[in-house]
Amino acid sequence: MKIHEYQAKELFRREGIPVPEGRVAETPAEARQIAEDLGGGPVVVKSQVLVGGRGKAGGVKLADGPDEARETAEAILGMKIKGLTVTRVLVTPAKDIAREFYLGIVQDRSRQRPVLMTSAAGGVDIEEVARTAPDQIVTTPIDPVLGLRPFQARQAAFHVAEGRTAAQMARIMVQLWNAYRRVDANLAEINPLIETPGGEVWAIDAKINFDDNGLARQPEIAGWRDPAESPPEENEARAAGLSFVKLAGNVGCLVNGAGLAMATMDLIQHFGGRPANFLDIGGSSSPDKVVTALDIITRDANVKAILFNIFGGITRCDDVARGIIEARRRADIAVPIVVRLVGTNEEEARDLLAETDLVPAATMDEAVQTAIRLAEGGAA
Ligand code: GDP
Ligand code: MN
Repeated sequence: MKIHEYQAKELFRREGIPVPEGRVAETPAEARQIAEDLGGGPVVVKSQVLVGGRGKAGGVKLADGPDEARETAEAILGMKIKGLTVTRVLVTPAKDIAREFYLGIVQDRSRQRPVLMTSAAGGVDIEEVARTAPDQIVTTPIDPVLGLRPFQARQAAFHVAEGRTAAQMARIMVQLWNAYRRVDANLAEINPLIETPGGEVWAIDAKINFDDNGLARQPEIAGWRDPAESPPEENEARAAGLSFVKLAGNVGCLVNGAGLAMATMDLIQHFGGRPANFLDIGGSSSPDKVVTALDIITRDANVKAILFNIFGGITRCDDVARGIIEARRRADIAVPIVVRLVGTNEEEARDLLAETDLVPAATMDEAVQTAIRLAEGGAA
């Protein structure tokens, strides 16, 4: 899950990271008022959308005082950035920038631990730096048990800066690590961390992404979810307790268990097809869940066939078959449905399906190949 810059800044503040003050406005008049409350000096008006590169897209603008802040907010509110409409702007005091640094902590799967990345090439697209000038990024692996040690932070900071600036930066790195750990993040980033001509250090941008599996113990943050982050179908699926990711193919998938769902998608690819989605209906055979799942999948006009791949264990196959038949009755579905059910009570399930227009398949290979053939307009 992602959160907005102003929310990430709030979490950073709690750790003691120096973040300029500021408030969020939904109207130009509010933006003007905030600029006035901040002392009437120069401010930055920043679109709050869940994508990077807002600056380049024209979604971050300097304004010289409250009146200009109102005009700037008027221009930015309603703007579309990478498909997302701006409904809120952060109004924050403008800082003079002498230097821009990059600080980020991400989960590094190959090292099996978080890493701190530090660079003097801040303010720009860090992926671009990583590609064109990887030597400009200092990488510091973090022991997940010991955490980021202060000496490691100093080493990294003095690699890109010096004196008081480096010392402040080292303290911020440890605070960034504390934030990362406390909120179950898988990315926490300050780009840029700036040094002012007077030698002050400020985090003027903030980004945190979360591990969704940690959200159960982060109720405050879970409540910050902005539905604009995902396609509407994914939000609807989440609300129904389904784990769903939309893809570009033509074979809709309904599978129980995330591992089997992944394997099903792999097999579709293997036989030359393309899955239209990832969908784990979980352990339950409830017709309601199946109806919701079918409804979401068939709304995608690309879907030309649907494949059920169910392994019955504690969930009994005949229960699932009843669920599918019931769902089939309630939902008006024009595309063919292939069903593979194995495990507990599979014979009963097969008998139930024999009386329907659902296409049974005995093995996973057969089910996948049949679904691909049907999706391409072939016969069962
Ligand atoms: P992003 O483009 O979405 O990463 O948004 P940022 O918050 O990083 O802002 C983009 C750029 O705007 C920064 O790299 C700065 O160059 C500029 N900027 C943002 N805040 C300030 C500020 O307070 N003062 C000045 N001078 N420039 C700023
Ligand atoms: Mn930035």
